[in-house]
Amino acid sequence: MKLNEIDLRVSLKKYFGFSQFKGLQEQVVKTILQGENTFVIMPTGGGKSLCYQLPALMQEGTAIVVSPLIALMKNQVDAIRGLSSEMGVAHVLNSSLTKTEIKQVKKDISSGVTKLLYVAPESLTKEEYVDFLQKEKISFVAVDEAHCISEWGHDFRPEYRNLKAIVNRLGDNIPLIALTATATPKVQEDIIKNLGINDAKIFLASFNRPNLYYEVRPKTQNVDSDIIRFVKQNSGKSGIIYCLSRKRVEELAQVLQVNGISAVPYHAGFDAKTRSKHQDMFLMEDVDVVVATIAFGMGIDKPDVRFVIHHDIPKSIESYYQETGRAGRDGGEGHCLAFYSYKDVEKLEKFMSGKPVAEQEIGNALLQEIVGYAETSISRRKFILHYFGEEFDEVNGEGADMDDNTRNPKEKHEAKDNVVKLISVVKGTSEKFKSKEIVKALTGKVNALIASHKTDEKEFFGIGKDRDKGYWMALIRQVLVAGLLKKEIEQYGILHLTPKGEEFLENPTSFMMTRDHVYNKATDDAIVS
Ligand code: ADP
Repeated sequence: MKLNEIDLRVSLKKYFGFSQFKGLQEQVVKTILQGENTFVIMPTGGGKSLCYQLPALMQEGTAIVVSPLIALMKNQVDAIRGLSSEMGVAHVLNSSLTKTEIKQVKKDISSGVTKLLYVAPESLTKEEYVDFLQKEKISFVAVDEAHCISEWGHDFRPEYRNLKAIVNRLGDNIPLIALTATATPKVQEDIIKNLGINDAKIFLASFNRPNLYYEVRPKTQNVDSDIIRFVKQNSGKSGIIYCLSRKRVEELAQVLQVNGISAVPYHAGFDAKTRSKHQDMFLMEDVDVVVATIAFGMGIDKPDVRFVIHHDIPKSIESYYQETGRAGRDGGEGHCLAFYSYKDVEKLEKFMSGKPVAEQEIGNALLQEIVGYAETSISRRKFILHYFGEEFDEVNGEGADMDDNTRNPKEKHEAKDNVVKLISVVKGTSEKFKSKEIVKALTGKVNALIASHKTDEKEFFGIGKDRDKGYWMALIRQVLVAGLLKKEIEQYGILHLTPKGEEFLENPTSFMMTRDHVYNKATDDAIVS
């Protein structure tokens, strides 16, 4: 397809009514129109849908869009229908349709009316559909929420693993477009491998959300009053409060209501009618606050959510990023406040204990990352972006002062000598230990793993005895963010040296660190020191 920029703009205006592309959209659309495999990684709200919808509407044939949730598909299809009724039609093919409806959808595909066909991965495995689609002209297959392919993402769906084989059956050289808002390098790698798109053009947008303010506060017995105070200080603004359990959702919504705050509860235990009523009340601003489990949010596009509070710490940094990402979509203020207590981490660990071992290990590795986020005293934005493989300049970067740690910095200390000790121990133990064992080796503590490797007989065993575990954990996190060490997440967190780390060992330079925040685990009466 031969295209120039004017054609693209005209089509953008015609189908969507927008005058300009957002971010990387234009380049992505061009690449898809050229029939190339494409991988789009953009944060929530970045405008991913348009990246495949526009080329689908502009091309011959039907684009298949694989999407994990029926509700999500319905939203998308309704939105497309609202945009361009005659030109491009979007349809859903899934188990909720009647026989007659299925017949009609098939007819529309064959006659070329259907430009976008939304399917769930399990529908796509049905022989009946595969047989039918094989005979039709398929422009490309877009895999939305592609992180569902990876166990290291926040929403693993085994059905996503079979997509490549099915697409191969649909025809030769059908371009594949993968889209996700999860940017960890490990998840990206899994997606590319699983879909067999080594040759894909990759479009990676920055995950920095400069208008969001990140804050962590200790969670005490007074957490409800803390939340009430915060909401009252922000009265009239829209906000979401996430809780882990349905019971807590209901209790907290009630507490807020009793305190004169207009709030509704939302979780998957309510019937569909109540859920959609409460959701609409929030969207239409009949209430200010929705107290919810993570069931609330997917596909919700309220641009002016001003705060997202986490009553409980979420299970990973990806989840936290997704959930807080619902704040400030319009570019305005968005306060992301998480309440943290180590007890909640133990609760999450307990939840996982019934699961298969591999899943537990992954779960624990992800959980340790969010603990790191909560306890760190460095720029929270830098911490999150580092997790997503992105460097952030905490002095001049966009949104550099938008977190509690940066606004109230702790005193920094020279840690050059200790960084040398740390890196030497990682090297001296042949890069096979996780943080936990490295800290033991530094502080001279033995456990089974240390003993089995005879690390306690090494000359460096205990060279960091003068500091406690908390100190070393903080230093490890900061050294990781500085890129002197790296963590192999697929090995559940084994620490390795980077070339930068090797260089530091040879030629140590100043390294200023701050101690982590300290939370009192015993009484849960957390204090940030
Ligand atoms: P994502 O799927 O990446 O979370 P969406 O596709 O839902 O993002 O888009 C987020 C919002 O941005 C939507 O409200 C959409 O209408 C809007 N949007 C997308 N592209 C443009 C554009 N080029 N100009 C203006 N608004 C856009």
